[in-house]
Amino acid sequence: MRVYYDQDADLNLIKEKKVAIIGYGSQGRAHALNLKDSGVKEVAVALRAGSSSAKKTEAYDFTVKSVAEAAGWANLMMVATPDELQADIYKEHIAPNIRDGAVLAFAHGLSIHFGLIEPKSTVDMIMIAPKGPGHTVRSEYVRGGGMPKLVAVAQDASGNAHDIAIAYAASLGADRAGIIEITFREECETDLFGEQAVLCGGLVELIRASFETLVEAGYAPEMAFFECQHEMKLIVDLIYEGGIANINYSISNTAEWGEYKSGPRVIGDESKAAMKKVLKEIQFGQFTSEWMQECKAGQAHFKATRRNNDTHQIEQVGEKLRGMMPWIKQGALVDKSKN
Ligand code: NDP
Ligand code: MG
Repeated sequence: MRVYYDQDADLNLIKEKKVAIIGYGSQGRAHALNLKDSGVKEVAVALRAGSSSAKKTEAYDFTVKSVAEAAGWANLMMVATPDELQADIYKEHIAPNIRDGAVLAFAHGLSIHFGLIEPKSTVDMIMIAPKGPGHTVRSEYVRGGGMPKLVAVAQDASGNAHDIAIAYAASLGADRAGIIEITFREECETDLFGEQAVLCGGLVELIRASFETLVEAGYAPEMAFFECQHEMKLIVDLIYEGGIANINYSISNTAEWGEYKSGPRVIGDESKAAMKKVLKEIQFGQFTSEWMQECKAGQAHFKATRRNNDTHQIEQVGEKLRGMMPWIKQGALVDKSKN
């Protein structure tokens, strides 16, 4: 596996390009701002008519274009809209207008790997997938850190697609943390697996199930919140800094013994078997086709689940307790009025 850094990137390959970022959400805003701050001279944001995101671009004076207009203008387009909308956006607005020789870029491989988009042979098709939430793509850049990026080339019409992908990733600030070259398939399948088994699915179920266990046993919800959610960040910070051995150095021997004794019972053979099943469903395209069907049907189940989870007791208790800790809000990663 090849890992690229600063010295491997030629930023001039991107600085002179007309870059259009489609969407100004979690990823789109971070890409537009990081590219601009890295010296890319012409960055425009492409949005749909009446977009609620347009207002958020004003603080940075980005030119806002329609997607069709941007496709006719740009040398490079980054598709930073929700995955489930990309195929229609491509068909209706990008394909009829994109310039021959342009670069079409994605932040995740789903639309390409599962054949939802089949681009013209006259364009480059690359991926720059940040390994972290969009809001932290920006916050890491601003604090002078970096976030690993996965890059891949699915179509190389110009003969230069690889170097452009590295230059784009470096402009996002990834060069400080490493740019890893992989395939669309590898990124897509591992990304979906990671978010389902651990980072989103596994993590939030672990938090909620443990919170409910304590509350159902008669403990105060406030205690349960601190124990099962709030402290999670403090533990994860230690793992991030120095690995699992680092938390075992920091926690008490009693906690460490409990980790060895009970951890494998909570996440044991049954969980691993479930993870293997989840991975198979991703690899065979079952997850993606079910998700696309859900979207075609108006996302009723998706939205109802979101509403239901948003009203869970842990959210209410958490909101109340976070209100007592004003420092959490200072420098918050998410401010819905701005990003
Ligand atoms: P978001 O849901 O945050 O994107 C929303 C943006 O897309 C909004 O600005 C929205 O504008 C715009 N948009 C929606 N529909 C259209 C349309 N028809 N035409 C033009 N613009 C539209 O997306 P994410 O940032 O979460 O995801 C973008 C890509 O990045 C995906 O491929 C995702 O897999 C990938 N990715 C995301 C990560 C993340 O942390 N979120 C991490 C790594 C990769 P409006 O105001 O009009 O709704
Ligand atoms: Mg993802």
